[in-house]
Amino acid sequence: MSCIAVLNAGSSSIKLAAYGGGRRPELLIKCRFEGIGATPRALVYSPDGALLADELSGSVDHAQATRVLIQMATRALGNVRFDAVGHRVVHGGPNHAQPALIDDALLEDLERLVPLAPLHQPHNLAPIRAIRALQPSLPQVACFDTAFHANQAWEERAFALPRALTHEGVRRYGFHGISYDFIASRLKEIAPDLARGKVVVAHLGNGASLCAIDNGRSVASTMGFTAVDGLVMGTRSGALDPGVLIYLMDQHGLDARGLEELIYKKSGLLGVSGISSDMRALRASDASEAAQAIRLFIHRILREIGALAAVMGGIDGIVFTAGIGENDAATRTEVVAGCRWLGAMIDPAKNAAGDTDISAPGSRIRVLRIPTDEELNIAISTIALTQGALA
Ligand code: ADP
Repeated sequence: MSCIAVLNAGSSSIKLAAYGGGRRPELLIKCRFEGIGATPRALVYSPDGALLADELSGSVDHAQATRVLIQMATRALGNVRFDAVGHRVVHGGPNHAQPALIDDALLEDLERLVPLAPLHQPHNLAPIRAIRALQPSLPQVACFDTAFHANQAWEERAFALPRALTHEGVRRYGFHGISYDFIASRLKEIAPDLARGKVVVAHLGNGASLCAIDNGRSVASTMGFTAVDGLVMGTRSGALDPGVLIYLMDQHGLDARGLEELIYKKSGLLGVSGISSDMRALRASDASEAAQAIRLFIHRILREIGALAAVMGGIDGIVFTAGIGENDAATRTEVVAGCRWLGAMIDPAKNAAGDTDISAPGSRIRVLRIPTDEELNIAISTIALTQGALA
């Protein structure tokens, strides 16, 4: 059996999931290195979430953390060798519509995209380089959060800015594509008729976006040039009138870093509630500010569902996924109540039970709850691209 590692690197943490290769890869263990740049700690979990190892580590950078994670995973699996590594890479730019095997040319290309995603891309690339230095012949695959959206129509992707800026790459890309790709393929298995129709998928986690998928293809999404656009998120503002940014520069003296801090880290559910970015905490709170933050979150989702319905010329189904979409029955109830005009109706008992199909018997469109699995999707792509190497 071949063994695949999937790496998902963020600013202060790196997650590793190990899979036994096969048509349906089997999750073997999950590891997490957290506290990079602060108090580093490496954790190993069984597939059902039981903690297997918990080690404090000395101060490390992303490359060192990658090496520690690979060592811990190798040890936990009884000294197996990984046959390939798949990576989540946030930005594939305009040229990458598919996962790709990593070579020098691709790595250079992805490096050039750092200015488009300065908060994520460098962290995504660091483990790739660390593994190439350690084991140059180990096949590595990059899976892009932008790829699923790469074939959207020109008018969906362009801003009404001077053409030279569009050519430079200042255009809408869309994100969460690895999750949407997974949901699109799950839909083919669960509801093949609906998979051929027009579906809005709501990926509602700390990061949140919607994607309009018509016959399996992304037609439009709420995230744009960056992952701060669109819906209200845990700590991100979502769509803002650009005039607000100019005002903040003029009147509050904010520069690019100050604006970044404000709209990525201090806004969204956290900024509006002043309490928490976490939906569970807001649902548990009696404060009117918590209720208002949730109202704004739901309101923006409803506005954007209307926009996506217009772009697709109708909707046959809505799918909820990610932390809030999968677990917060109240969010699903509130969103579907606001989609009554589309003929959507939810079955309260099925919704409370967390069923897959939560549509009420009289609903004109299907309402589904499908857990996403971005790591599994990366594992599947990695195996598909390295099959020759693994045979
Ligand atoms: P990320 O974008 O970081 O992957 P997740 O998909 O894990 O985020 O989603 C995190 C969000 O999901 C948080 O707002 C959290 O409160 C919410 N969430 C997780 N479990 C529940 C639950 N049981 N009920 C309500 N919200 C939940």
